[in-house]
Formats: sequence, structure tokens, C-alpha cells
Amino acid sequence: MLGTAPAAPSPVEPSPDVCVLGLDVGGTKLAAGVVRGDGTVLSRVVEPSRVDEGPHAMVARHLEMGRKAADASGLGWDAIAAVGIACGGPLDPLRGVIQSPLSLPGWDDLPLTRMVSEALERPTVVDNDATLGALAEWWFGAGRSRGVRNLVYLTISTGVGGGLILDGRVYRGAAANAGELGHLTIDYRGRPCACGRRGCVEAYCSGTNIAARAREALASGDASVLREASPLTARDVADAAAAGDPLARAIWDETTDMLGSAIANILDAFNPELVVLGGGVTRAGAQLLDPVRETGLRLAMPPARNAADVVLAELGDDLGIVSAAAVALERVPEAGGRPLDGERIEGRRPAGAVATAR
Ligand SMILES: [Zn+2]
Repeated sequence: MLGTAPAAPSPVEPSPDVCVLGLDVGGTKLAAGVVRGDGTVLSRVVEPSRVDEGPHAMVARHLEMGRKAADASGLGWDAIAAVGIACGGPLDPLRGVIQSPLSLPGWDDLPLTRMVSEALERPTVVDNDATLGALAEWWFGAGRSRGVRNLVYLTISTGVGGGLILDGRVYRGAAANAGELGHLTIDYRGRPCACGRRGCVEAYCSGTNIAARAREALASGDASVLREASPLTARDVADAAAAGDPLARAIWDETTDMLGSAIANILDAFNPELVVLGGGVTRAGAQLLDPVRETGLRLAMPPARNAADVVLAELGDDLGIVSAAAVALERVPEAGGRPLDGERIEGRRPAGAVATAR
């Protein structure tokens, strides 16, 4: 229809006085915490994931962590309006189903929001952890003081993921899986990637692959302090590069060049005001940010370059919990949010009903 399209709804803003429980599901650690709608973290409980236990034992343990986090917040369970979950994708945020993430073996079509909402008796929503990293950094981290409407988040960790805030809202795309920026191709004939393609950003710049590229370089026989590192990590490469080791330096410079090139693509495609870099590899700080920022801005086209900056994430170790909480604030009406089109939120009750968890 021409001329009769409804106006886009105004962007959701977090309700500052609401409290929600955030559950962050990772392949290495599980985290639970109560977060207020202004981004304040009131409690946090963190444990190793132990993925070999399988999804049902992991979810049961995570629920227990959530109850402990509610106690530790000093507010008690009645204060919790909703539960948000951040999890590695692929997943279906509309149905709340986890669809076999590489980092979570056995989580095959797992109806996670139903399991959690039945156990905790609160409306529960889930989304991709990198998408929610973008939302959390936009609302409560690097985006908060800068007042931006377009922010791209790139997490550089064991893998590389991304999330998009475009025109003042989370951009999810047609199948709600947009933002897979780790699989932007920077060399279509390049290194094999875990996704099945070749030459993705992740195939070079994830922590795992920075270390793998250093190991491959060592096979040349050149001298390097990295020969002493066991197991060799991306952190070792960064430290040795900073200390002037030529082999480590070459690997690190190539890494920042490739990340800068990927960021130029992102700047030209989305024209954001801000690109935020998070994840374990960014603990290298300025050693990563400065060359990546310089390369990304230099390679981008002038309109995109002139509008943008590239910065580090600001939420630190709380990013997972705040990300998980953010999706509840964004989408659960009981927490001041607005559901996605077509979303039926597990655990929602008729207005006015009061629920308790145990
Ligand atoms: Zn890939």
C-alpha cells in the first residue's frame, strides 16, 4: 500500500525503576544477576558452564543461580518483573528456542524461555548475546553518554559476533539473526571458518584464530618468544608484540589491519556514529583499538568516516548480565518493554495477577 504505512513505533527506552533478572548463557561460564532499569547491577552469580553436563543440567543449575541472585540483590523474588536471557546463536527469539550453537553441544531446538518461565514463573525472553551486547552498550555503556542512534557492536572473543542498533532500535532482520559480523568475508579464498565458509573475519581475528595463526607462523622456524608459551593464546601474541617480538608483531599487525578493514566495511554499510569493540581480545586495550580505529576510519568513505568513531566497550565483566537484562527491559511489557511483532512471550500472565517463584 502506498501512503498509508503506519508510523514506526517510537523506540523503547528502559524503565529506570524496574528490576529484572538477567541470565547469561556462555560456553565457558554462566552468569545470573539482578539489574535495575537504569543499568545498575544489584547482584551477580557466576559459575563455570560445564557444557558436558548437557542442556537440562545446565539450565537447572542456572535457575538456581538466578534464585541466588534474587536473594543476593536484597530485593527478594517479588521485585523481579521479568527474566531476560542472552545466549549464543543461532536461536529463534520469537519462539525462545535455541538452535544448536557451536559453543553449546546438545542445545538442539531447546525451548529455553518455556523452561525458564515455567520454573521461575516470570515472563521470559531470549536473544543473541552479541545483539544484546549492542543494546546494553547503547543504553548503559559506550553509547549512553554519546546520545547516538546508530551503533554497531563487535565482540572479539573465542569467536567474533556482532549486533546492530540502527535508527534508534535493535535491528534483527527478516529471520531475527542479523548482525553476524564475524562472518563478513575479508578473503573468499582464505582460511577455513567454523561456519563452513572461508576467509571470514572470525577465521583470522578471533582469539582462537589469532593464536592458531601464531602457531602456524612458528612452523616457519623463525625465532620468537612465543615458542615458550604453552598453551599459546591471543594474549601471549599481544604481549609479545608489545615487547617487540617480530613474529608476534607481524601477527598482531595483520590482525589489526584485518579488523580495521572489516570495520571500514561496517562503517560504509551502516553509517553508524559509533562502533563499539568488546570481548576478551579487547583487553589488549589501546594496542588493539588505536590501529584498528585508525585503519577503519582511513579506509571508510568520507561521509561514513566523518560521522563515526570506534571505541572500546564500557560495561566490562558485567556486560553479559546487563545484556541479558536489557532484552527483558526491551521486550517484556511487565518490565516496560514492547514485544516484537508476532512474539508471544512465555510466562506472561493476565494484567494484575501476582506471581511468586517458590
Ligand atoms: Zn565464518
